[in-house]
Amino acid sequence: MLEQDLHIHTTFSTGDSSIVPEQTVDLIARYPHARIIGISDHLEYVLDNRFDVYKEAVCSKGFYLGIEIGGGKWVSIAVELPVDYYIFHCKDNSDDYRGLELLIETGKPVIVAHPFIMGTNLKKVPSGSIIEINNRYIWRTSRYRELAEYKGRFDFILSSDAHQPNWLSQHIARSIALELSIEEKLLFPEKS
Ligand SMILES: [Zn+2]
Ligand SMILES: [Zn+2]
Repeated sequence: MLEQDLHIHTTFSTGDSSIVPEQTVDLIARYPHARIIGISDHLEYVLDNRFDVYKEAVCSKGFYLGIEIGGGKWVSIAVELPVDYYIFHCKDNSDDYRGLELLIETGKPVIVAHPFIMGTNLKKVPSGSIIEINNRYIWRTSRYRELAEYKGRFDFILSSDAHQPNWLSQHIARSIALELSIEEKLLFPEKS
């Protein structure tokens, strides 16, 4: 059993072609793999009248409710939604760093998703952000070693970023955290 997994996609991310049709909220609930679980579908696919359905599906299973936000342009919409936390795509531009600041002001956890894939400059990321070690991507670059420089400045979480049932794992993210002596920050209490 993993400690925490807050970056999981389901069939609510309708436009994400990596999601298999079996990756439903029900399936995640049927095979629990972590003590603290959050679902984080892409904001653009759960807007308007779909949001309440998404919220109900996630919360009825006792999961934390997250969303994954594709940059600063979505922040004004995101802050209005009653989610527990944010996962944020931060490209190297001022709108996205500003977006992080605005999200942090909400007081909810703000996770910088797979920073090396997005081209995030961690030097420009505001303190209070939480950095993700993402099992889907972290092994694609040896740059992961740079994370060790930021151990004093940021908290870190480990995530699967699962789009398919067999991705519900953090084996590589955990190995890298161990190598860098990074201790995962648990963001929420375990739900009973
Ligand atoms: Zn992402
Ligand atoms: Zn994702």
